[in-house]
Amino acid sequence: MLALRLEKRRLTVKDVLKPEQPDEALVRVLLSGICNTDIEVARGYGGFNGTLGHEFVGLVEESSDRKLVGRRVVGEINAGCGNCDLCRAGDSRHCASRTVLGIHGRDGAHAEFLQLPTVNLLPVPDSIVDEHAVFTEPLAAACGILERVKISNSDRVAVIGDGKLGLLCAQVVSLTGASVVLIGKHSSKLRIAERRGIETVRPKDAAKRRRTFDVVVEASGSASGFGLALDQLRPKGQLVLKSTFHGKTELDATPIVVEEISIVGSRCGRFSPALDLLKKSAIDVDSLISEEYPLSKGVHAMRRAATRGVLKVLLRP
Ligand SMILES: [Zn+2]
Ligand SMILES: [Zn+2]
Repeated sequence: MLALRLEKRRLTVKDVLKPEQPDEALVRVLLSGICNTDIEVARGYGGFNGTLGHEFVGLVEESSDRKLVGRRVVGEINAGCGNCDLCRAGDSRHCASRTVLGIHGRDGAHAEFLQLPTVNLLPVPDSIVDEHAVFTEPLAAACGILERVKISNSDRVAVIGDGKLGLLCAQVVSLTGASVVLIGKHSSKLRIAERRGIETVRPKDAAKRRRTFDVVVEASGSASGFGLALDQLRPKGQLVLKSTFHGKTELDATPIVVEEISIVGSRCGRFSPALDLLKKSAIDVDSLISEEYPLSKGVHAMRRAATRGVLKVLLRP
C-alpha cells in the first residue's frame, strides 16, 4: 500500500506492507487531513519515524467487533496499554505507555490503510460527509479546551491565531455563549470567524484590549503568541496553551507571578462531542478546506500545508 513516510527527517511516498496486527482493527482510509502537528513532527518534534498523519475518516475492513465491519469510522489517536488505572477508567490519553497514531510509536493515517484498537473507533453518522468527518480530531482538540477550563456565557475569551486550530477553537468557545474575540493577521481567515458572528482583531489593535480577558487561548503556534496572550489577560485570568512546538518557547515568568495567571495545557479531546457538533452542522469546517491531493502527491501536499495562508490540506488515498 502507499504511505507518506517520515524517515530520518526525509518525507517520501512509498510502497510499504499493509499493517497486520491481528488484535487491532484494520481501517481503509477514505480521507486524511494534514495537521500543523504533522508539520512539526516532520521538523523533528517527538523524534518520530514512520507513516505520518492522525486525522482521518475510513472504512472498517477487519475488527473484533463484527458490527463495525463495513462501517465508516473516525478514531481516537491515543492507543493505551489497556491495563493501567487511566486506561481502565476509559481514557488512554495520558497512559504512560500509549502510542499515538502517526506521532509516537505507531504508523499513521496518510496511507491506504491504518490500524487502531477497536475501542478507539467511533462510527460516523451517515449525515456527516467525509470532508466534515475528517475534522473530528482537530475539532475534538478544540472541544478539549472545555474539559480543562470552565467557560460560561459571562466570560470574555480571546483566541490567538487564525489558523485551522484557532478558527475551530473560536467557534467551539463561542457556542458556550461567551463573548469571543479572535486575534489574527489574515483578513481572509478572520472573515471565516466573522461569518459565524465572532469579533476579530489584528494583533496591533489588540493593545486596546490589554488586561481585559478572563481566558486567553493560545493557538497561533508561534512563540510571539505567548507574550501577546499574557498581555491580554486580566489579573488572575487563565491562559490555555493549545499549540505544540518543536523546540523550546521563551517564557517571561514575572507577569505570571505578579498577575497570578493560571496556565493550562490542552492537547486531545474526546471525539463524541465533536461528532455531535458536526452532526448538528454547528461548526463551519468547509471554509477551512484549502486544497486536496491524491496521497501519491503527499510530499507536495505537506509543503502546501506549511505555506502561509493555506488552511486544511486533505489527502485522498
Ligand atoms: Zn491534528
Ligand atoms: Zn494504560
